[in-house]
Amino acid sequence: MFSGRADFFFAAIRTGCVPASARKRRFCPEMLIFVSVKQRIIMEKQCVLVTGGAGYIGSHTAVELIAAGYDVVIADDLSNSDLRAVEGVRRITGVEVPFEQVDCCDREALGRLFRQYRFDSVIHFAASKAVGESVHEPLKYYRNNLTSFLNVVELMRATGRPNIVFSSSCTVYGEADAQPVTERTPRKPATSPYGNTKQMCEDVLRDAVAAYEGLRGIALRYFNPIGAHPSALIGEQPQGMPQNLVPYVTQTAAGIRECLSIFGDDYPTPDGSNIRDYIDVTDLARAHVAAIRRMCGGARRADYEVFNIGTGRGVSVLELVRRFEQVNGVKVNHRIVGRREGDIVAIWADPTLANEVLGWRAERTLDQTLASAWAWQKHLCGME
Ligand code: UDP
Repeated sequence: MFSGRADFFFAAIRTGCVPASARKRRFCPEMLIFVSVKQRIIMEKQCVLVTGGAGYIGSHTAVELIAAGYDVVIADDLSNSDLRAVEGVRRITGVEVPFEQVDCCDREALGRLFRQYRFDSVIHFAASKAVGESVHEPLKYYRNNLTSFLNVVELMRATGRPNIVFSSSCTVYGEADAQPVTERTPRKPATSPYGNTKQMCEDVLRDAVAAYEGLRGIALRYFNPIGAHPSALIGEQPQGMPQNLVPYVTQTAAGIRECLSIFGDDYPTPDGSNIRDYIDVTDLARAHVAAIRRMCGGARRADYEVFNIGTGRGVSVLELVRRFEQVNGVKVNHRIVGRREGDIVAIWADPTLANEVLGWRAERTLDQTLASAWAWQKHLCGME
């Protein structure tokens, strides 16, 4: 059906984003060419740089971007991630996704990456993310999270890359006065240096987009991402003792940890434990695709936008543990201990704006997500 020349183009695009040095002069490999008998339509295939793409959310987002037809370049310094996640992305997609080991705080190295690859959009995940650690090592968090983000935005401006998605967090709301939170819910002062870096980066992006013609930005405020890709080839890989609930639950069920500590059952909630909005990581990944599509397609109301990415459903810690046990038919030893410092009582999203404006909604059920988390844990332990 396709001419030899068209086949040649297809062979080129299957390799993903091709380094500039490897490009032939006669064609641009980012061009996806559909050929029919009567007509040739040339459509630009967009490329997205995913910083922190070897991490938990980054790797799932790379998979969804590729499934949606984008080329992807992954950059990661591997300080808190694993090259096996990149291998997982390649296995799931069948695409030899380019990977560059780069620390986004290293301006020179990041500049080389910007010169090496063609992309219009960046999704910036690369950041330190442990709330507790940020309290004890604030300077590490301010340096790492702010420097890397400033470098990315400055280079985007300098090289004319227009679209950026910033991975923000519902932590920017702090202890909100009412639930669920909407994007108009006022941000409270951050309760940790980590949360403060999210607020500061949102502000940097808002101001940069207002000042620099052609720059567009979307901040996605994630609620609590959990679960793993249905293939169980990628998932969350905490280094050392898990800080988040679900990895601790799965490791306890697998016998790696003796007992899950539930931090408090005396909160003013129906069962006394904290309430959160747990969002499936593949659903969350698809929200990034929707954000990129919105910016690339030009269908946006403002040049800087913010969206809550959650399910709209609040689930307590005790409920989540119970559901995990029921869905997976396993026991999770647990005991109630004292409250964890800095935990807010309850938060869940009003995702209406993302539903209506991004055309995105969470699709996977909590049970599906908890099953995927257990499948991933079993994969990690070689249990099946
Ligand atoms: N949690 C818990 N035991 C753990 C880890 C977390 O009871 O070992 C609780 C925590 O107090 C919070 C909820 O689980 O109410 C979600 O915590 P996580 O750290 O996963 O996310 P956060 O909402 O703090 O960002």
